[in-house]
Amino acid sequence: MQVTPTGTPVVVSPRANPEEDGLQNLLGLDRIELKAAIAGIGVPEKQVKMRTSQVWHWVYHRGVSSFGDMLNVSKDVRAKLAEHFIIKRPEIVEAQYSEDGTRKYLIRFHDGNEAEAVYIPEDDRGTLCVSSQVGCTLNCKFCHTGTMKLVRNLTAGEIVAQLMIARDDLGEWENPTAGRRVTNIVMMGMGEPLYNFDNVKKALEIIMDEEGIQLSRRRITLSTSGVVPHMERAGREIGVNLAVSLHAVNDGVRTDIMPINKKYNLNEVLTACANYPGAHNARRITFEYAMLKGVNDSDKDAHDLVRLLRKYKLPAKVNLIPFNPWPGTDYECSSWDQIQRFSDIVYEGGISAPIRRPRGRDIMAACGQLKSASEKKSKADILREQTAAAGPDSAAGAHHSSTGLT
Ligand code: SAH
Ligand code: SF4
Repeated sequence: MQVTPTGTPVVVSPRANPEEDGLQNLLGLDRIELKAAIAGIGVPEKQVKMRTSQVWHWVYHRGVSSFGDMLNVSKDVRAKLAEHFIIKRPEIVEAQYSEDGTRKYLIRFHDGNEAEAVYIPEDDRGTLCVSSQVGCTLNCKFCHTGTMKLVRNLTAGEIVAQLMIARDDLGEWENPTAGRRVTNIVMMGMGEPLYNFDNVKKALEIIMDEEGIQLSRRRITLSTSGVVPHMERAGREIGVNLAVSLHAVNDGVRTDIMPINKKYNLNEVLTACANYPGAHNARRITFEYAMLKGVNDSDKDAHDLVRLLRKYKLPAKVNLIPFNPWPGTDYECSSWDQIQRFSDIVYEGGISAPIRRPRGRDIMAACGQLKSASEKKSKADILREQTAAAGPDSAAGAHHSSTGLT
């Protein structure tokens, strides 16, 4: 992987809208791109604006995937659209339903890479946990996704598609505003969203669009492990709620469990939080804290946490996440008594600290349990596979195929 001078990993995404049989996929285009695409197929100039609004409405507000269903679009324009475009979701390889109502989708993208999205119903809301990358570069020690190498960033279309797939499965398009089942989105699936900033921003803008899916920014939360240089920009340009994976109250422990702390330490992360645009009491920053037995869960840690959040005058809420185990982990979840004590101490310090009820553990869908089988392959591996698939005489040709990997 290339690394820029600021240390931000650069991953070459596949083409945003891969063509299939010469047809361009409209899913994931923003309004400007959609307008250009429609203008580009010879729709009369006078109609372009109106047709763009109509197609936008059908794709993102009504969830259709066939131009034939776009009833207010004239027949000849529908035919033209179908000649050039498709509206195609990635494939659901597996949908698992937990006994507690949680649904986990394993989604396969056009290049065979896979990522997961998780739907979590609660009494007053339904939250979709969305992935931003296949794998993750950051290797937090307690996180299952962190054991995967980063394979690649997801495109905006692939991020939006996770929501569309969940809405398909939940039968939600029929009545787009009343009776919503996905009321909230958390960018807390696989990957570090701020290392895929542009695609995440574009996807969330599509999701928030008032003539499309119409999810309010107040119902969207982006979780970061603390990528300081992009936090302020996220507040200014995307404006959604911020959650920060804190998990420790001193640099020693945090560096040990979250290697990114070497690059951006606690002081830098908390200063960036204090400067997060729009952070005030009505929109508190959520600090995620996974309860790891004997690592970060003592009474002293709880007192230090209160002190730390007060020191930076942060409008904060702490989310205590009982550690979710996964095969091969060295960590254990703190005892329920200790989690409760920790929560009480933080509450007594004046900061709300609810304990997140683990959801979907039986289908490995809980926080930090997501992992797909996609593995980053070396260029040599890819070349070998392509050579083998194409037969013994075609090694030279393999050099020209695009892998989308750095
Ligand atoms: N990469 C982003 C968002 C994805 S993870 C981030 O790190 O913030 C969503 C949350 O689950 C994060 O707070 C993450 O630290 C936490 N988490 C990861 N593994 C976990 C595990 N095994 N048990 C509980 N929480 C975990
Ligand atoms: Fe990546 Fe977040 Fe997991 Fe850390 S906790 S490895 S940043 S997905």
